[in-house]
Amino acid sequence: MTNRDISTVFRAIGGLLQIRGDDAFRARIYERAADIIDELTGELDVSNQNIRNDEKTPKMHVAYGRNTPQNIITIEQFRAIPGIGKAIVAKTVEMLETGRCRFYDELTTEMGTEVLELLAIRGIGVKTAGRFYRELDIRNTEDLQVALNSGQLKGRKGIGRKTLQMIAEGLQFHMAQKGTRPLWRILPIVQQISDILAQFTTQSTTAAPIDELSKRAIKRYEFTGDFRRHEEVCHSLELVVECSGEIDMLRESLLERLSQTKLLGERFETPMTPSFEHSQSALYLPLLCRGNILKATREEAHTASAIQFSVDRDFLVSIYLCAAAEYEATLFLTTATDEHLAALCDSSDSEETGGREAQSEAKMFTLPVLSQKPKSHQESNHQSPSRSEFIHGNTETEIYQKLGLPYIPPELRQDADTVTAAREGRLPSLVEFGDMRGDLHAHTDWSDGRNTLRDMVEAAKAQGLEYFAITDHSVSSTVANGLHQQRLLEQVKQVRELDADIEGITLLAGSEVDIRKDGRLDFPEEILAQLDIVVASVHSHFSLTEAEMTRRMIRAIENPFAKIIGHPTGRLLGRRPMYPLNVDEIIEAAAENNTVLEINGSPSRLDLGPEFVRKAKRAGVRLAVNTDAHAIAQLAHRQYGVNVARRGWLTKADVINTYPLEKLRDMWEGFVTPTPRY
Ligand SMILES: [Zn+2]
Ligand SMILES: [Zn+2]
Repeated sequence: MTNRDISTVFRAIGGLLQIRGDDAFRARIYERAADIIDELTGELDVSNQNIRNDEKTPKMHVAYGRNTPQNIITIEQFRAIPGIGKAIVAKTVEMLETGRCRFYDELTTEMGTEVLELLAIRGIGVKTAGRFYRELDIRNTEDLQVALNSGQLKGRKGIGRKTLQMIAEGLQFHMAQKGTRPLWRILPIVQQISDILAQFTTQSTTAAPIDELSKRAIKRYEFTGDFRRHEEVCHSLELVVECSGEIDMLRESLLERLSQTKLLGERFETPMTPSFEHSQSALYLPLLCRGNILKATREEAHTASAIQFSVDRDFLVSIYLCAAAEYEATLFLTTATDEHLAALCDSSDSEETGGREAQSEAKMFTLPVLSQKPKSHQESNHQSPSRSEFIHGNTETEIYQKLGLPYIPPELRQDADTVTAAREGRLPSLVEFGDMRGDLHAHTDWSDGRNTLRDMVEAAKAQGLEYFAITDHSVSSTVANGLHQQRLLEQVKQVRELDADIEGITLLAGSEVDIRKDGRLDFPEEILAQLDIVVASVHSHFSLTEAEMTRRMIRAIENPFAKIIGHPTGRLLGRRPMYPLNVDEIIEAAAENNTVLEINGSPSRLDLGPEFVRKAKRAGVRLAVNTDAHAIAQLAHRQYGVNVARRGWLTKADVINTYPLEKLRDMWEGFVTPTPRY
């Protein structure tokens, strides 16, 4: 079992115990252990326990995944971590040795696992879930729906009308998200699959028991579909794998390896189509193995050149296996949305398409795509899907070239707009990760961050950042241990001292200041004036009306000290929709006041989202791509923020973190008017 498997089990135990009404302290021990395991820098391993006693002949390390002798955490090291007690160590060893946890198995036999799903619904915490479970025997979302419909929940002590309303809406939101996954829940699966595939490439450094032939079986692979377009919420996870040798052989070995993980528990389960409908287009279905697979039965699926399985019952993973010549063509076909592909076909029909040569070539593309009807079930059985000669063997760049278009980056293969823009030579030159110079929103253990000020700064410096803003929470964020004025000023002093002390990175002393219910900021002007940067964010009173929330935000935007509006819509992907807000008005106000809007890179937020980012850009608003890191590892969230910026058509000039510090300072000089407007 991997660290992630183990932490998942511990987190589930913690939730189940609380729902059952056990001692909350006991439950928290498991949750804390899960947090600690998630933050470990190496994989837990039980086989190395003997090394200390027998250092001359260490046990040969045999394990799957990322485990290499360099990043192993032995049980002894694990035991030494504060917060890890005897019970946790014993269960961890049990899981590493047997792949099971008896205590967890007993709990789930008694309670099931679906009851944990209730915790994902807004308005339901462990206390409410526990009451529902114990008093009303509500064990899953269906039970909850029935209870809501029947009015059974009305008039219960401690559950008011407003709460019930929130739960009903939360349940609706939750059900609408079913079958999809937000990025933060996909990343661990991506990692797990990558670890497995890496064992089949020549670069493999793992000591996994894999034969020499298999080790070279995969030439290259890439995640495609929603994930390659950097969707914040994916309908499925797809990847294209180029095989060096026999596709069938590789499929068998891969299946075997996948079966050894918990990941592949529900391979080829039916139904697997619901979340997949969006990609079933009559336009190109016959060209894709995914089209054939969808129709394939369990047995046939084994023989097709793809592997499909579902994770957690409803999330589909498809691995397409192909030869070199089909690799980029498959990548091309699986990356674009139906709308984008359709627009490419239309565009090739259009009068405006390049020269005559380009036009006729483009037709070649159009014809096979449009005219071929899906084959009947029998016909397609055991045949590799036919592919257009036009795209066969070409790189993606060549395919676009033949269509008379420049290369369109994956994240823009979303709609028809890009095709028009490409045709008219208006495709933006998208901002790149390497353009980023600084991060303007991060936390330390002064508020709710996990690392110290110095550790965060050292880490930011190690990543090559030129400037880094410390923006811990303000006083109103009590749950996040927000800083009151005196502590903030003390921190500012320390930031300035550290800045003088540390070479190679400039620190900005700032604060993530709460926007109060009425739109005022959490600190008075004389405090705000001492800060280099203020990120103003909403963390409370989410149930205001749209008009109230919009007014509240605009008041903050108009505050000359508020340089950036943090996570402007407040959405939590897969957990909570954005609060009621007129984003158009927010964008307009930001443009008028030269206030920057944030793209929060946390994979659970990605806020603003790409559609709003594009609107903001059109209105002339500049954006900041920030990590909102609460731990060193989260500094990596910058990449996800950049992905959203790219999906929102942003260029380097639109993103203020690409500016040298001087330019940033000049810009803010102009921002702060001497007399604030309120
Ligand atoms: Zn925040
Ligand atoms: Zn924050």
